[in-house]
Parts: sequence; C-alpha cells; structure tokens
Amino acid sequence: MNPTASVNDRIQLIVNGATAEAGVAACSPDLAKGPWEFDAQPPGYGPGSSMGDVIPTGSPVQGGLPTEYKTATNDELHERIRVAKETLGERVVILGHFYQREEVVRHADYLGDSYQLAVQAKNRPEAEAIIFCGVHFMAETADILSSANQAVILPNLAAGCSMADMADIDSVTQCWEELTALYGTEPDADGRVPIIPVTYMNSSAALKGFCGENGGIVCTSSNAETVLKWAFERGQRVLFFPDQHLGRNTAKAMGVPLEAMPLWHGRKPLGGNTAVELAEARVILWNGFCSVHKRFNVGQIEQARRDHPGVRVIVHPECPMPVVDAADEYGSTEYIRKAVAEATEPTTFAIGTEINMVQRLAAQYPQHTIFCLDPVVCPCSTMYRIHPGYLAWVLERLVAGEVVNQIVVPEDVALPARVALERMLAAKPV
Ligand code: SF4
Repeated sequence: MNPTASVNDRIQLIVNGATAEAGVAACSPDLAKGPWEFDAQPPGYGPGSSMGDVIPTGSPVQGGLPTEYKTATNDELHERIRVAKETLGERVVILGHFYQREEVVRHADYLGDSYQLAVQAKNRPEAEAIIFCGVHFMAETADILSSANQAVILPNLAAGCSMADMADIDSVTQCWEELTALYGTEPDADGRVPIIPVTYMNSSAALKGFCGENGGIVCTSSNAETVLKWAFERGQRVLFFPDQHLGRNTAKAMGVPLEAMPLWHGRKPLGGNTAVELAEARVILWNGFCSVHKRFNVGQIEQARRDHPGVRVIVHPECPMPVVDAADEYGSTEYIRKAVAEATEPTTFAIGTEINMVQRLAAQYPQHTIFCLDPVVCPCSTMYRIHPGYLAWVLERLVAGEVVNQIVVPEDVALPARVALERMLAAKPV
C-alpha cells in the first residue's frame, strides 16, 4: 500500500510539527502515542473522535502488552506479522474494517464494511482463527456467525465502539416494556404487530439477541432501507437503535415524515415523549450517534464547494440529517468506495466518513482529488486502538499454540442474535 495512505504517519508529522499542511491539525496530540498508554484503565475511549464520550463502567480493558511489541518499529512489526501469518497459513484469516489503520490493513485478507466482513466470517469455516481488526461488536458478530470450533480474536479488547455503548440491554428492555404497555401486542387487520425492534449492526450481541427474540432484525448502513421495508411489512412501527442518524436519514428517504420519528431519551418516562406522539410514530429513534460522523457539518460542505467548484460531496448516513441533505450523495462505506472506484473522469471528491478510509482512497486513486470534509485529523478512537503491535502479539501467540483475546458470545445470547442476523442476511442489501 502506498505509504501516503497512513493516517498514523500523518498524525506523527502533525504532532511533531514536521508537516507543511496549512491549517491542518490532529484532534489530540495523544494520537501520536501508542494505544497501550490508554489501555490500563478505561477513563475514556482514548484519543480520537470519541474522547468526549462517557465510556460505560465494565467495558473490556486490554491490560498488558509485552514490551517488545510496544518498542518495535513499524517495519519490525510488519515483518513479524508477515512471518507469523505465513507460518499459520490457511489456519488464520485476518479481517480488516475500512476504518482500520493502514499498518494493520496491509495484512488483512479481506477489507470491508461490517456487513461484508460478517459475510466473510461466515464463509471461511476452514480457518481455525478469525482475527478481527475492527471493534468489539464486529468480533462478536463474527463469533455468532462463524463455526463453533473457530476462535474469533480481537487484537485489543479495549477496541469498543462509543455508539454501540450508547444503547445497553437494560435501557432498551425498559424502553420496550414501556412501548408494549402503550401499544399492546395485538396485530392490526393486516397482521402487522404494533412494533418491530431494529438494531444497527453497531450494537452489542445482547441487543441483537433482543431483536431475535422479539421479531426484530439487524441492519447495516448498506441495507438499512431494505431492512426497514422488511420491518414495515411486519410491523406498524419500528424501534430503531442505537444510531438516530442512520434511522432518521433512511426513514426520511423512504417518505416517513420527521414528526413521525420521535427521539427516545433513556431515563425519561416514555423517553421524553407524550403518548399521543408515540401513537403517531412510525420510527422511534434511540438517542445514539457516532462521534466520528457527528464531526461533519454543513459549513464544511459549503467551504468545500467554495474551494473546489464542481466537487462531488459524498457522506455516510451516520452523519446528521442536515449534512446528508446538503451533500450530493450519501451511502455506506462500500457505496463511497464504489463511487470513487467507478468514477471514469478525474473528479474532486469531498468525503464525510472516517479519515483512514478517505486517506486510503486518496492514495489508491491518485487520478482523483480526494479529501475529508473535516480538516481536523481525528480518527475513530476505538478502531485506532488496533495497533500493529497487538496484531503481531495475537498472531505470534497463535503460532505458539495459545489463543489470546478470544471473543466468546454465550450461546443463550448467540442463538437469538443469530436469528436476527440471519433475517438480515436473507433480506439482502439494497
Ligand atoms: S466510526 Fe463510529 S460507529 Fe464506527 S466504530 Fe467508530 S465510533 Fe463506532
């Protein structure tokens, strides 16, 4: 991979004052440190986009990483990873998310969004170990969909997702009880039940299990519209969690009026809504968001249009609605990747998604001008925790016959979660 694709290299240059990029900054100087500096206790998610979010108590903590992996250079780690992977051969498969660091992605067998990687996990039954270079909920999903004899490994256990952490099973269960008390459980004349739960892939296995048990389904940003259609065929309304923006942007595009999309605030009776508002609701939105995509705003789009007349602005549907409305197009990470890959004429793209993906696209397609709408370099804090040192460590432990950092979803959770995931896989992406 072209070295200019490395966000980490760019951050080091910015933080050390060694770059001539005018007006460009990193959102935290701590990004230049190794993630192990933030692993011992979880006071926050670490440097990056979700620094200001509150990490729930009980979140997984990585703990120690042997010093040799912290002090090795990137070149040394690259070589150790390469050798360990070669030794393991077909016994291991490495999955890398689009938002992952370049130094890790270069070793991935598959690069993709959470939907594509979930499918890959399911399609590689011969691999004894699946190393998921993404975040915690993705590794849980891989464990649910993979075979019982496969070990799913998350190189750094502290790589969670601040959005997924905004909806926990207790709060969603409480919300569900209030809603079913309000709506009852009787289907209407068309056989549609009062409410269907839909969880975004970016949620805990427990919430996927909740959906499986309550007639619901999982969605990703690639298939949210297909999944909402699936839900409206079976239910009068939807409870959508945890990402309010994906829910609102998708339902709005399907013609659901904003007044029929109340926001549910946990801890307030009826989520802070009246019974009348909820009676008229089509989509009840959980009050969650992604701190990476929340950084984008309409002013950035206006600036891009001033600076680059004719620019093509594409944003992710986790962005707030005004940003999606102001953009030329919106879509999942795979949609964005394809839009760039398929552009036949040299084009200027301003992209509203995570910086690692944007910078990789810029390096891969030099015939285009590609930049991130956000001028501040601020990667996803949690994805950033998968440093190549952790990848080298888990691989070398595997070579030594030891499985570390295995993610195991208990079978009583995995069973209903698999039901909700299989419904999604059968519903097919748009
Ligand atoms: S980009 Fe946002 S939704 Fe994706 S893993 Fe990071 S915090 Fe979670």
